[in-house]
Amino acid sequence: MTTTTASEIHSDLQAFLRKSPHKLLIGGQWLPAASGKTFEAYDPATGEAIARVAEAAAEDVDRAVKAARAALDGPWAKMSPAERERVLHRAADLIEKHAEELAQLESLNNGKTIREAKSGDLPLSVALFRYYGGWPTKIHGETVPVSVPYYPGAKFLHYTVREPVGVVGAIIPWNFPLLMAVERLAPALACGNAVVLKPAEQTPLSALRLGELLLEAGLPEGVVNVVPGFGETAGAALAAHPDVDKITFTGSTEVGRKIIQASAGNIKKVSLELGGKSPNIVFADADLEAAAKGMFMGIFYNQGQTCSAGSRVFVERSKFEELVHALAERAKTVRQGPGLDPRTQMGPLVSEEQKRRVLGYIEAGKKEGAKLLAGGESGAGKGYFVKPTVFSEVKDGMKIAQEEIFGPVVSVMPFDSVDEVVSRANGTPYGLVAGLWTKDIKKAHQLSQRIKAGVVWINCYQFVDAAAPWGGYKQSGYGREKGQYAVDLYTQLKSVWVDLN
Ligand code: ADP
Ligand code: MG
Repeated sequence: MTTTTASEIHSDLQAFLRKSPHKLLIGGQWLPAASGKTFEAYDPATGEAIARVAEAAAEDVDRAVKAARAALDGPWAKMSPAERERVLHRAADLIEKHAEELAQLESLNNGKTIREAKSGDLPLSVALFRYYGGWPTKIHGETVPVSVPYYPGAKFLHYTVREPVGVVGAIIPWNFPLLMAVERLAPALACGNAVVLKPAEQTPLSALRLGELLLEAGLPEGVVNVVPGFGETAGAALAAHPDVDKITFTGSTEVGRKIIQASAGNIKKVSLELGGKSPNIVFADADLEAAAKGMFMGIFYNQGQTCSAGSRVFVERSKFEELVHALAERAKTVRQGPGLDPRTQMGPLVSEEQKRRVLGYIEAGKKEGAKLLAGGESGAGKGYFVKPTVFSEVKDGMKIAQEEIFGPVVSVMPFDSVDEVVSRANGTPYGLVAGLWTKDIKKAHQLSQRIKAGVVWINCYQFVDAAAPWGGYKQSGYGREKGQYAVDLYTQLKSVWVDLN
């Protein structure tokens, strides 16, 4: 932990960190890994260790799946929908009560600024548990008026029932560690499933703290199990486990493919939220001040480590020079530092590996002939800082314009016509989100229909809500999380026939 901020660390967080080495949550018990191994959780602002965490592998995942199955068939199935609602609402209240502590933990382990953790990650986590806390009593089937062509005049009562999918494996990334966990747990639990959660190896801590709070909220033992560990071991074991019914995965498209392959063994249901290379399109007739803010926040929020990063900005040619220079000048003034320092505007990247990856893309951009207008190098200090980076003179085929960088690097490109920008915006394998800025509502809606993306923001960017569906077109994944759409993901439909003849 950074010495400058150590004195301000919340006492509850200090108490939590002192539990190191942290254990796995399996069947309501805190257990060491079967191998006895632990790994280090560190502060990306300094690279220094903050705690050790039990390292789950296949054997631990197997125990967690068994515990989940037992809970699913036992106490969890016996709780009424109204009782499940109360547990979810208590979880929301507890997260809210511990918001300061949890925001600090996110900032410490992920590097994100405390301001973003407090204004984004925490309120959204609370909102998700509140939103899904209302669902258990409202998930119901329907009666269907059936006619059977080969049995004229026959009468049946036909109805549908929505049942839980079963044991859900949730494999999540490190960019919003708590929020990603909650985004899976809240709907999965609302629908009556049991969950084995594998947080990312870079950011295991808030998921463990969440596990404590869920037990405190009255969730029966084994309904949620938390098994921090590495992707190739714990993650792969969960993805391939024959008694896991569904995997919900958020992460890279490359690992998404492996998840699909691993699901083939027992035909798991799979939902995937993968990479993006999202276009943010600014027309000359837009509110340029708002668009400039949207361009900045679209790429630099969370150090650019969002799957929805607006990493390709297209500006109509007459306003291009003005906007690209405004963005570059603003990028140069960003104050970088530890996320926990309230003066910090941009924290470090999550890991040394991520820093290396992002710097590699910056080098590729320079080599391919893009023009660097801001940043382009590491930030000061021994943490994993990369300066906010703005490229112009980027060609659509360049690596930096095609591949997901997952860091604070933006390509800004001019365009001349609607048809041109639509085809260029759609010209990557991804299709997660898109932004567009114009005062012409007809143009906005025409364009929103032509963009191949799961989310389109008109005159805004990076807005999410518990009720609004989230997910991608093309290689950005399949399935829609959040809202009523996640109820479809986490339930399966049974068709029941009753003979009335
Ligand atoms: P990144 O490379 O940015 O860390 P990943 O897609 O590799 O993104 O990681 C997202 C999540 O997927 C993490 O929880 C990670 O541990 C997990 N993961 C990585 N590789 C595998 C794999 N082969 N099988 C299952 N999960 C994996
Ligand atoms: Mg990886």
